[in-house]
Order: sequence, then C-alpha cells, then structure tokens
Amino acid sequence: MPAGGAAPAGDAAPAGDAAPAGGAAPAGDAAPGRAPARPGPGTSQRVVVTGGAGFLGSHLCEALVARGDSVVAVDDLSTGVVDNVAALDGTPGFELVVADVSQGLPVTGPVDAVLHFASPASPPDYLERPLETLAVGSEGTRHALTLAAEHGARFLLASTSEVYGDPTVHPQPETYWGNVNPVGPRSVYDEAKRFAEALTMAWRRAKGTDVGIVRIFNTYGPRLRPGDGRVVSNFLVQAIEGRPLTVYGDGSQTRSLCFVDDEVAGILALLDSGLTGPVNIGNPAELTVLELAHAVLALTGSSSPVVHEPLPVDDPTRRRPDISVARRELGWEPVVTLQEGLRRTAEFFSAGTPEGVGPRP
Ligand code: UDP
Repeated sequence: MPAGGAAPAGDAAPAGDAAPAGGAAPAGDAAPGRAPARPGPGTSQRVVVTGGAGFLGSHLCEALVARGDSVVAVDDLSTGVVDNVAALDGTPGFELVVADVSQGLPVTGPVDAVLHFASPASPPDYLERPLETLAVGSEGTRHALTLAAEHGARFLLASTSEVYGDPTVHPQPETYWGNVNPVGPRSVYDEAKRFAEALTMAWRRAKGTDVGIVRIFNTYGPRLRPGDGRVVSNFLVQAIEGRPLTVYGDGSQTRSLCFVDDEVAGILALLDSGLTGPVNIGNPAELTVLELAHAVLALTGSSSPVVHEPLPVDDPTRRRPDISVARRELGWEPVVTLQEGLRRTAEFFSAGTPEGVGPRP
C-alpha cells in the first residue's frame, strides 16, 4: 500500500468533515467543520459559476436559474461554447462574462456563492493545454477563492476522481489519498486539482472562508462536445455515424458513469449543505469500457465494429466512487440508469448529426 493509503473499509467519513464529538478524526482531517447551510429554497442567491459555458457548468447554471438564483457564468470559451447557455440568454438574472479566470474574475455586484468549474476536463483537452490547465487549477482557483472571501460567499471547488490517480483502493472513499504520477502527462490535470484542493483547504484554515470540495466522477449527458474525446461521446457519435468504436487497450479498464442531472443534483446538495468535504459525487455502477461499447451498440442498433487502439499513458485501470458520505450527509444518490442516460445522450447527438441517425426506438 502506498504511503497515505486508504482508511479502513467502511470508514467513509470525508476528510475535512466534522468528526463525531469525542470520536477519532478520520485520516486527513485537519479542518473539521460545516458552515451553516445556505438559505433554503425560495431565497434567491447570486452565484458565480466559472466554466459556466462548459458541459457541467452550463447544466449547473440552468439548474440554479430554474430554482430562482441569479447566475454570472464566467468562461473563456476555450472548451466551453456559447451555444451551451444560449437557452439562458435573455433570462432575467443570467449573464455570461467572457474572461479567463486564470487572469482574474471581473465580477461586480453582490456574490453569495462561487462555483469554480473552469478547467479543461477531457483528457485530450487538458493534454493539449497543459499550461492552461495548471494555471486554471492554481491561479484560477486563487482568483475564485479571493472573490468568495471578499464577499463572505461560499466557495465550491470542482475537484475530480483523478485525484485518486490509478487507485490501489477500490472503490474509492474520500479518505483515500490516491496514487498519482506527478510527472506523467495526466499530472497537469490531476496535480492541478490536487493543488486546488490544498489551496481551498488552506484558505479555509487561514482565512475562515466557507468552502466545499466536490470530487466529480465520470459524468456524461447532453452537451458533451461530440469531439471532446471522452469515452461516452466518442462511442455514441461513432455508433451513430457508423464508424468503428475505438476501445483503448483491451477495454478491461472500468469507469462508473453518472448522468449529468444526477451529478448536478449532488453538487447543488453539497453547495446548500455548508459541508466542507471533500465529497465524492458519482454513480457507483461500474462497468468495463468494452461493456460500455457493447451497451452503446445495443442501444443505437449500430453495426459498427469495435477496434482497439493504444491505451493512453497512466490511464486508470479502475474507478468507482464510494458514495457513503453523500448518501449519509446529503441524502443524495444517483437515480438515472445507464440505459436511460445513454438514450437521452444519444438523442442529443443524433439531433446534431447531419445524417440524423437516431437511437433505436
Ligand atoms: N476510452 C476508450 N475509447 C475512447 C475514449 C476513451 O476506450 O474513444 C477509454 C479511456 O482509455 C478510459 C475510459 O475510456 O479508460 C474513460 O476515458 P475518458 O476519456 O472518458 O475519461 P477518463 O476517465 O479517462 O478521464
């Protein structure tokens, strides 16, 4: 077991969360606590969402506006696209500010919460933008924390299952410290997010900022960019267009896929809770990449072949969240099945393809 291995099985208290009175603090717990929960439904907040024109960011903006919050989406449009928030354009209380959060956050007026979601997130995107990815995880996080602290606002960091690297503990509880190659190509993302977590906790300890950290596991759904290179978008677009499905390696590596609506519900529950975390938000239903390829072929009715391509460097061999903390502390768990989520995502891609090939009815 590497230094900093997992806490005993079953000990799923989040690092940084409050230990029970008189109880032993969980491994890694150096900043226990929970801020007061945010005002309940019906109380409008002004929320800044960095990366608000991205896949996940745009779904968050939509959910926040739908519940009556005002939203300032900040995005440099490097991987985000204006189309993602086009439906919100003109909605009272929504605005898009085009800016690079690594350079600063040009937001004026009141701020009740800052959700820091700006970052390239698909492996091809962050491998193409190594320096930008490190900058947004470090400088971008510092700017977002500064804005939150100036306003006494709650800060929520979008962290990732990638902080666990290629995990030696399975499934991954928040108390597991991870197995990350600090000098490999993926380190630009993994270490940027690990640094962002460290900075967030330091800000809390040093300045008392109200912070939360969500560790997001693989999420999919409408608005994934068809060419962003992630496995669900690749397989669905390939199947719909009748091209071979590109399975990297032998396809025995596993992932656990969460539909975006479930992910957003979990993130908002954490935002509202006042909990520090980190908290895993993801779907524990695990499958191999090869199983996913066959599920996509069955769903779309495609006769595309499966081809094998080289496995990317440091590709994690397995990944599955332990969501005991989210279940216990947030009362959250995912509800959308893979079949249903894939069907809704396939509809999105089918609508956008010139061929108009749709999923099997
Ligand atoms: N993958 C694949 N074919 C693709 C894209 C990805 O086999 O066309 C694999 C990839 O090697 C990884 C898994 O699918 O094992 C998930 O990859 P993704 O890029 O979606 O996200 P990751 O979990 O690696 O960040």
